[in-house]
Amino acid sequence: MALQINPNVSRLRCSWSGQELPGTPFSSRVGLCRCCPAPGRPVVVEYDAAKVLTDLCGTPLARRDGAGIWRYAPLLPVLGVPEEYAADVGHTPTVRHARLSRELGIEVFLKNEGTSPSGSFKDRGLAVGVALGRACGARRFCLPTQGNAGVAACLFSARLGMPGCQVWMPEGFKDSVYHRGCEFFGGEVRFAGPNIAAAGRAMRERVAHQLSTGEYVDISTFFEPGRLEGKKTMGLEIAEQFAGRCLPDLIVYPTGGGTGLVGIWKAFTELSALGLFERHHARLPRMVAVQSVNCDPVVQAFHKGLDHVLPVSSRGTIADGLDVPAAIMGHGILRVLRESGGTAVAVSEEAIRTAFARYGESGVPAGYESAATLAGLLALRETGEIADGAVVLLLNTGSQLVPLAKS
Ligand SMILES: [Zn+2]
Repeated sequence: MALQINPNVSRLRCSWSGQELPGTPFSSRVGLCRCCPAPGRPVVVEYDAAKVLTDLCGTPLARRDGAGIWRYAPLLPVLGVPEEYAADVGHTPTVRHARLSRELGIEVFLKNEGTSPSGSFKDRGLAVGVALGRACGARRFCLPTQGNAGVAACLFSARLGMPGCQVWMPEGFKDSVYHRGCEFFGGEVRFAGPNIAAAGRAMRERVAHQLSTGEYVDISTFFEPGRLEGKKTMGLEIAEQFAGRCLPDLIVYPTGGGTGLVGIWKAFTELSALGLFERHHARLPRMVAVQSVNCDPVVQAFHKGLDHVLPVSSRGTIADGLDVPAAIMGHGILRVLRESGGTAVAVSEEAIRTAFARYGESGVPAGYESAATLAGLLALRETGEIADGAVVLLLNTGSQLVPLAKS
């Protein structure tokens, strides 16, 4: 079966104004919305509930015959990926950690995303983003990155037999493990500026022509709707893994661009609206965003009561994935935190390093971003924000191998 848009998709909507995009969804390439001031805001996919339920015909959402994250095909925007395309993506373990639970006086669950093929949760988003873009006619992708997203974009481009993704990295990432990973999967790596924002600006300037003619498609975080749909599968999996019991009281998430946080919540709200949640899952988790004090635009905006995130000037963080001074989906992240009754917390670089060491001593495979979530949990536990015995799920977004190879 060739790649095709899922007929269950009903519409595309602007994440800020709620305005529906005109025309048939995905009849052309989809970037940012046109209803908001340039460059526009992220667009989100919506599904026709009746069609999804007919498609399921009373069977569970997760299909036994689907591979990897395409087990959830009725709620993904693109169908017909090759069998092996994402068979090894997702299905990541969620385990209760007895030692941390005992030490912290709560129930600690860890979802270990390091088992996906390029070693991080980025595989989920890029698997769907690349397939969706291809289904809409993309010939080549480009994106700025300072981490695993570039590697994942190159890997999935290679799996579809597409020309290598053009990846833009900050100057300091020459010869990094990310640089080598992108080239391994056939990517073309360019360098510009001191951080991901500058690399992104340089990219959009240098390939403006290719972007305007459609020769390249920008697959940056939230610049197209597929990556969010891929990250959504984390939430679908969490619901599946907590079958027969309540969902966690809190989900703690290391927040850079925030695709996973928004995606997990999108999964919960879609399952709820479709009536696919079991009765145990009536109460949804509080969502918690963790950032570094050196780059904490979401935390600042949340505590100021803003409905959008103002850019900060980053002082840099050891957790590269959290070094996002201006999250384009900031409004969506804030909405999730408030809707879920959650919160946002900033942790020091020292706390991240200490938590990283603690994960190591506890035998937990996790990178610095994941260590930040543990540091955030400890901070909230100290202030009494997390009660004794609470069930907390920490997202371990990638393994320790990449940060260790880098440092
Ligand atoms: Zn808009």
